[in-house]
Amino acid sequence: MKHDYLPEAFETFGSTKERRKKIRKAVLALDNKVKMEKKCSIDNRCHSGFCPTCLRLLRKKFLRFVQREELAKREWYMVTVFVEGWTKPAGDFEPFGELKNNPIIKKFLKQLRKVGQPDMLLFGSIETVFKVRDNKPIGKPFHLHMLISGASKEQIRVSVRKTIPRPTIGVPLRIDHVQQTAKDLVRSSSYILKQTFWLRSESKKGFKKLESPKPQQLAELLSNLGTHQWGDRFFYIGIRFCYGKFSITPNVKSMFTKKTNNKSHKSHTPLPKTPKK
Ligand SMILES: [Zn+2]
Repeated sequence: MKHDYLPEAFETFGSTKERRKKIRKAVLALDNKVKMEKKCSIDNRCHSGFCPTCLRLLRKKFLRFVQREELAKREWYMVTVFVEGWTKPAGDFEPFGELKNNPIIKKFLKQLRKVGQPDMLLFGSIETVFKVRDNKPIGKPFHLHMLISGASKEQIRVSVRKTIPRPTIGVPLRIDHVQQTAKDLVRSSSYILKQTFWLRSESKKGFKKLESPKPQQLAELLSNLGTHQWGDRFFYIGIRFCYGKFSITPNVKSMFTKKTNNKSHKSHTPLPKTPKK
């Protein structure tokens, strides 16, 4: 069944089951280097970070949350950051290490909290792709995607500069304004919390596409990511994922309520930047 809070091209349940079989096969071929439960069923979800069925469920939960909380009413920036030293070369099977708990991510979130508004919201992911250019394997750059509301473009830029070492060539920092429509926010959110395993092919002409990785590439991606749970690539400010449910943290939620009440009383005056006491 198609839900109205999902973007147009959302993976089907059936397609994730098919994909899971391929991934499970690749996990077994890696001889215990990484783990994923044999089965994932409706009354016993495996919650593996490798499981496309569980990730689809998480993505649905998140997109429903975005709609329920009317997050599209806020102003958002979509941010993409590539990080110096985070690229695994092709052929490298070593694990990357900490995902959402990576010290660089923690430093960035701490810095942004210092400068952003108290009701700031952020959700982000750490991910990687297998990159191929003109049919030559390039490597697997780990990188960050984030949606941020409650911080200015400049505050975001400075926070990145202060805390994240970035490669000097090839991948510029991107901070793009998201259109204030539910459709655009849902599309951006779905992109940030996307499925795990991708091959990105590029050509000299600038042509790019995302497709399913080949078995060897999938094996490398599995090994680099390492065994992890379904929420282990995602990080937040002002949002939490608890007992399988997304919510806005109580302190940010109460600031929203104050703002909304303020708005209904004085609908002709612009919203104050910070909530009044
Ligand atoms: Zn699962």
